[in-house]
Parts: sequence; structure tokens; C-alpha cells
Amino acid sequence: MFCRNCGIQLPDDANFCLKCGYPQKDNISTDEIKWETCETDWVHVKPGTLFSKGTAKYIARAIGPQGQYIAGQSSEYTFAIPETEVITTARFAAFDSFIKQLVAEGWEFIGSFGVGDSQKRFRRRVK
Ligand SMILES: [Zn+2]
Repeated sequence: MFCRNCGIQLPDDANFCLKCGYPQKDNISTDEIKWETCETDWVHVKPGTLFSKGTAKYIARAIGPQGQYIAGQSSEYTFAIPETEVITTARFAAFDSFIKQLVAEGWEFIGSFGVGDSQKRFRRRVK
């Protein structure tokens, strides 16, 4: 199905649009329930090459009734090609605590998107 408001494609059982938050069913009041969504991904802090390590961090970009903002950031982690076990472990730890921080701030996991395992989507009620 497609959003009644902005027209993007949505899962068939969606109650709200993942992008604009608009309700997709008639019996839900737009005045009482509003949602914001956020999406996580990683960004470079310092680019790496085949011969030198780089640093990166995870970031959550949010959009809601008040517009776009950064909902959270992880600590920076080192990356290299190929990754060593130490580097992988540190990266997973950074991602884990980043996700826990989002959940503690009221974000609810609603699914993955894209191809990377760092790309997750969350929603949160706006009061
Ligand atoms: Zn929409």
C-alpha cells in the first residue's frame, strides 16, 4: 500500500507512514497520536584506505512533526580492510551501546532497511 499523505510505499499492515507519520486507518485520530521515526547508519569520521585505518561512528537521523534532527550518535570506532577480530568486536560494542541508548530514550525498533546490518528503523511517540 501507499501512504495516504505522501505516497511512499509502506508495508500492507502499517498503521502509520514510516516517513511522514500520517495514520493509514480511519479510526486513528491524528490529533492524539503522532510518531517520529529515525534511521541508523554509519558515517566516516576519518576515511581509511587499504593501508591505513579510518574511524567512523553510527548515527541516527530522525524525522518527526518538528522536522529533521540527529537523534543520537555512537562513540567513534576504528575500521580497517580487512577487519581484525579486535576491530570487529569494538565495532559491534559501539553499535550495541548505541542501540541500547536509542531504546532507553524511547525508540522502538520497527525493522531493517537497506543492505547493511547497521541500517535499522525506529519509531517513537511524540508527546
Ligand atoms: Zn507518508
